[in-house]
Amino acid sequence: MTAPKKLFIKTYGCQMNVYDSERMAEALGGQGYVETKSADDADMILLNTCHIREKAAEKVYSELGRFKGLKAANPDLKIGVAGCVAQAEGEEIMRRQPLVDLVVGPQSYHRLPEMEAKTRAGEKALDTDFPEEDKFEKLKTRPKASRGPTAFLTVQEGCDKFCAFCVVPYTRGAEVSRPADRILAEARDLVERGVREITLLGQNVNAYHGAGADGDMTLAQLIWALDKIDGLERIRFTTSHPNDMGDDLIAAHGACSKLMPYLHLPVQSGSDKILKRMNRSHTAESYLRLIERIRAARPDILMSGDFIVGFPEETEADFQATMDLIEEVNYGYAYSFKYSTRPGTPAAERAQVDEDVKSERLQRLQTLITRQQRAAQDSMVGKEVSVLFEKPGRQEGQMGGKSEYLHAVHVEDAGIKVGDIRKVRVIASGSNSLSGELV
Ligand code: SAM
Ligand code: SF4
Repeated sequence: MTAPKKLFIKTYGCQMNVYDSERMAEALGGQGYVETKSADDADMILLNTCHIREKAAEKVYSELGRFKGLKAANPDLKIGVAGCVAQAEGEEIMRRQPLVDLVVGPQSYHRLPEMEAKTRAGEKALDTDFPEEDKFEKLKTRPKASRGPTAFLTVQEGCDKFCAFCVVPYTRGAEVSRPADRILAEARDLVERGVREITLLGQNVNAYHGAGADGDMTLAQLIWALDKIDGLERIRFTTSHPNDMGDDLIAAHGACSKLMPYLHLPVQSGSDKILKRMNRSHTAESYLRLIERIRAARPDILMSGDFIVGFPEETEADFQATMDLIEEVNYGYAYSFKYSTRPGTPAAERAQVDEDVKSERLQRLQTLITRQQRAAQDSMVGKEVSVLFEKPGRQEGQMGGKSEYLHAVHVEDAGIKVGDIRKVRVIASGSNSLSGELV
């Protein structure tokens, strides 16, 4: 028997990349690879890249440069670039960094086994097509190994919205939903392997419209179908667009007990002028009314969002409108970014806001969000929450997990096992987590 080859995957960016990295490891498992935690002893290194952050491509090139020594020590080492930078840069990656053997875009991961074989034959392998077939169907799943109690499951990919700042429609392609039966089969398989919470993923997850037995299904219908799976206790989904928040999905938040009371609903800005220039096709007012309806369905829901400050032509008054919106919504969590240009997107060509102004606005916004986040976490003290325990805590006898509101919770009790869902009374709120005791 030959020793297994070692695969090191470094994952950048969103949960969709985490999910994709797992699938790539599974696909290469069929080629005799096992995962390793260190690049130093790897036979193949894959960088699963993200194009959302600033200078993403440059960071990938500098990371690749660091592998020169490893390749010199082991000429059989294969180096690959996957993800959105691979899609955006394509062949250019191999031109600029000749030690790269393989470049694969997010829609072509099922072709990895053949691509790997090609690199072993001494050739370069490049695939950044947008093929018609369902890559997830083609990616074989591992034999039923048990796994942790939470899992991601991609149900939808790509985006047709073309927000003026965003590369996703170019790197991930058009919106595609996976058929419901495949998602349900994958969910059942995950539950058999010990998963109790599934987070449905998509760039525009609430635009889901995959084929079901009686025609296309909405995300809410998919959630209700998942709700019937015994052993699956919690359902989450991310990321949603305000325009795709259908009535049935809002109603599900009030009616489906497995659907957790946490919703990530990015708004980006509170200024209608900026929203229009961002091509967001919603207004601050329509977003606020939407949140009212969601809270009417599920009053305790914890809202989270994404914000971009310093989008081209953002004035102090526009920024203030964003701050006002944040005050009104009262978020439990938020991600905020300084606008940064993405070549090829419409906003990249426009007059840019000064870097210092962006930094100063970001700081003000983050101060406000941190205050709200802190208040949301502190308000849990004295309450009973339900916690899905995921892993041992830092201290002996301590277990850590997440509440239904996605707050990290620690409990000291030797009787708790990974995968348990237990009622916990919150006794204190720390810097990043809550501590509690079993009820
Ligand atoms: N589809 C989701 C949405 O509509 O909100 C997520 C898109 S993106 C993967 C995640 C976040 O990155 C966006 O919500 C936005 O706030 C941020 N982002 C995207 N492009 C950006 C840019 N050019 N500059 C700064 N932030 C950006
Ligand atoms: Fe990007 Fe989200 Fe806008 Fe699509 S909806 S273009 S993924 S920010």
